[in-house]
Amino acid sequence: MISTEELKVKLSELVLFAQKNLSLKDADFYFVTNSLLDLFKLDTPAPKATSYPENFQEEVMDKIIQYALENNMIEENEKIRFETRVFGLCSLTPSATIEEFTKIAHKDGVKAATDWFFNICKNSNYIRVPDINKNIKWTHTGSIGEIGITINLSKPEKDPKQIALEKSKPKTGYPACMLCIENVGFAGNVSWPARQTLRTIPITLNKEDWSMQYSPYQYFNEHLIALCNEHRPMNVTKETFVRLVDFTDIFPYYFLGSNASLPIVGGSILAHDHYQGGDKVLPMFKAKNRQEYKAANYSDVRVYILDWYNSVVHIESENKENLLKFAGEAFDIWQNYSDESVGVLAKTTDIHNAVTPIARKEGTTYVLDLILRNNRTDDKFPDGIFHAAPHLHHIKKEGIGLIEAMGLFILPARLKKEFEGIKEYLEGKKELDINDLSNPDNMLAKHKDMIVELTNEYGFNNTDEKAELAVKSYVNKACEEILECTAVFKNTSVGQAAFDKFMQQGLGLKKI
Ligand SMILES: [Zn+2]
Repeated sequence: MISTEELKVKLSELVLFAQKNLSLKDADFYFVTNSLLDLFKLDTPAPKATSYPENFQEEVMDKIIQYALENNMIEENEKIRFETRVFGLCSLTPSATIEEFTKIAHKDGVKAATDWFFNICKNSNYIRVPDINKNIKWTHTGSIGEIGITINLSKPEKDPKQIALEKSKPKTGYPACMLCIENVGFAGNVSWPARQTLRTIPITLNKEDWSMQYSPYQYFNEHLIALCNEHRPMNVTKETFVRLVDFTDIFPYYFLGSNASLPIVGGSILAHDHYQGGDKVLPMFKAKNRQEYKAANYSDVRVYILDWYNSVVHIESENKENLLKFAGEAFDIWQNYSDESVGVLAKTTDIHNAVTPIARKEGTTYVLDLILRNNRTDDKFPDGIFHAAPHLHHIKKEGIGLIEAMGLFILPARLKKEFEGIKEYLEGKKELDINDLSNPDNMLAKHKDMIVELTNEYGFNNTDEKAELAVKSYVNKACEEILECTAVFKNTSVGQAAFDKFMQQGLGLKKI
C-alpha cells in the first residue's frame, strides 16, 4: 500500500521531473502542485523535491497510479488514461507548447525545435517508448533492396472492410475521428485513448491550416503525422503534391507522404485528410534509379523509374514550381491510363488508378516519388489484384499503405504468438498433425502451408535459433512477394516494357 505521505513525496518528484523534462516553467510550479493536490484530494504538499529516482516511471509514476488504484480513484483498465491525465496536468498547455517551439525555432533553428518537441512527447509518455521497444524488428536484404520488418506489439490491426466502412460512414460523435484536432486534451473513454498529453504544432500547407504531431506508435524514427485542421476525407489531388512539398520547405530533414485515397491501396484512416512523415530512413529512399527520362517541356525536371519492388516514378528538380507542374500532369495522365496487356484498368464502374506520393528534399533538390497504385478486384483476387495474393494473407491481409510500399512492413501482433507455435514444430516440441492444423479453430490453421513447407525444408530437430531463422526467412520472402504484388508494372521484361510505354507514350517522356 502506498501511504498518503509517500504519495505526496512522489507528486513533488513528479513536479520536479516536469520542470526538468517537460519544460514546466517556475511560474507554473504552484499551479501544477495545487492541481495535483486537488486531483488526489490532499490538503498539503510534501516539501519541494530536490531530486527524483533515475527509474522515474517505476519509482514515481507507477507508484502514483498504484495509489489511485488502491484508493478506488480508478479501475484497472483506466491506468493508462489516468497516467495521461496526470502527465497532462504537468505539461505545457497547447499554446505554451507552440510558443516554446516557436522561440526555439527562432533562436536555434527548426531542427532544434522539433528535437525539443519530440523529447517532450516521449517524456510525457504520449509516445510510450518502452512499449515501442517491445516491437520485434529486423531487416532483410532482398533481391532489389533492403526491407524492414516490424511485428507491432503496440497497436491492434484493422480489417480493410472495416476501414472502407469508416470512410463511407464517418463517425458523428465527438471527437469526429482519431485524427481530429479536437482530440487535444480529450480525456478518452473505453474505446478512445486519452489525449491530455497530445500537443500539435500549427503549419501552413498550400495556404491551408494544418497541424503536425508525432505518431504515438513510432513505426520509425520521428514518425509524424500532418493533419488537416478540418475533418474531411482523404483525397489525393494535385494540391496534395503542393502540400507535401511545402512541408519539406518547413522541415527539410523530414519526408512527408500521403496514402492513396482509395481502399485496399490506402491507409487505415480514410475519413480524415492526413499525411505521414518523419526521418528519411525508409528503405525505398536508398533505391537507385533504374532508367532516366527527359521531359520535353521541363528541361530542369529529371524523371526516372526507380529501381524498386513496386512501380515508382521518381521526379527530381531544383525548381519547385516545375516539379509540381510536371507531377500534376503525370498524375492526371495516370488516373486515366489503362494497359490491358498487363491488367491495368484505370476504371471499370469505379476509379482504380491512384498514387501514393512521397516528397522529400535533398539539399536544394526537391524529390517527389509517385508510387503507381491500382485497387481493382476480380473473381480470382476479390481482395485486390495488386494487393497481397491470397496465399500471403496469413502474414498480411490489410491494405499496403505508404510506409509498407516504401519497404517497412508493420506486421500484426498476433504473429508473435503464432510464430512461437510454428517454431514448436520445427524444434520437435509438438508433433505435426495435418488434421489438427486443418481445424479452423486452431490458431495456426492459416499457417498450415507455411508449416508444411518449413518442416519439409528444415525438419523437426532445429535449435531455437535455427527455427527462428527459418520462420524469419519465410516472412522475408513473403514480404518481398507482397511488395511485388503491389507493383502495377511487374519487374519482368513484359512489365518493364509496359512501364516504359507508360513513361514514353503516356507521359510523353524521352528515354535517355
Ligand atoms: Zn477527423
